[in-house]
Amino acid sequence: MAEKLLEVNNLKKYFPVKAGIFKKTVAYVKAVDDVSFFVNKGETLGLVGESGCGKSTTGRTILRLLEATAGEVIFEGKDVLSLNKEDLRNIRRDMQIIFQDPYASLNPRMTVADIVGEPIDIHNLAKNKKERNEKVKDILERVGLGSEYMRRYPHEFSGGQRQRIGVARALAVDPKLIIADEPVSALDVSIQAQVINLLQDLQKDFGLTYLFIAHDLSVVKHISDRIAVMYLGKIVEMADKTELFDDPMHPYTQSLLSAIPEADPTKKKERIILEGDVPSPVDPPSGCRFHPRCPKAFDKCSVEEPVFKDYGDNHFAACHLLEE
Ligand code: SF4
Repeated sequence: MAEKLLEVNNLKKYFPVKAGIFKKTVAYVKAVDDVSFFVNKGETLGLVGESGCGKSTTGRTILRLLEATAGEVIFEGKDVLSLNKEDLRNIRRDMQIIFQDPYASLNPRMTVADIVGEPIDIHNLAKNKKERNEKVKDILERVGLGSEYMRRYPHEFSGGQRQRIGVARALAVDPKLIIADEPVSALDVSIQAQVINLLQDLQKDFGLTYLFIAHDLSVVKHISDRIAVMYLGKIVEMADKTELFDDPMHPYTQSLLSAIPEADPTKKKERIILEGDVPSPVDPPSGCRFHPRCPKAFDKCSVEEPVFKDYGDNHFAACHLLEE
């Protein structure tokens, strides 16, 4: 049986909305609202949803770059959310992040050697500078950048190369889990596949586990073992990749899949166009949050919230239609 590396239980992250001269809290943005999922050792879970659905906030809250409002994040048996500063620093070595924007996430005044070497210094993983630079050189080569780049600065690189530097920095401390937060969204389509292939090779070589966040199902399809679909702060469906693509249960997943162009022109599929925009997470719709846009909504949907449950073989979904 697969071993869980990460387990997220009932995670919530609410941001206060302040107003007036006394900056009183008048409401909350419920960015992540009762989210539960797990990631098995060595696998990739794709976390997908439209922008603003809470997927990046979920990733950052797991790593405590943002403090959670409620819930549990269990990593190798320890609750990350209740660790003290020292234990958190130690566990961060095992849990790294790759950011979306390689332009913004690298310090422009640091050389590549220092960017990649910094986490090695923070965690005291090298005896001296020579050993540290040897490690940096090895990692850079592993991500497809030669040691001749070590003394250069981020502005001297292309977008794809900068993301390779971001990957090298994450790898430098030999982590177990990498949260890849839209790692290819800012890159040209031609470069996206190269970075995804690199991440897959590294996963095999280093036994890595990925939480791969993206807004596009077609991006996560290639790399994921399982996929979780998020809508307005909640996971609405989670299943094995093939199962999710072949037999999507939730109307929101069905609409996302209908938007992916069919490679085989003889196979026609009907595009499901959703009405309206994603509602505000400050005041989400009652009942099922998807009901104002759902083409299959019925009376119960606006009143009662559907339960997220397993419909067999770890295929989870939250929709009243499935309960009928
Ligand atoms: Fe649509 Fe109702 Fe299912 Fe929500 S519960 S996805 S509104 S059918």
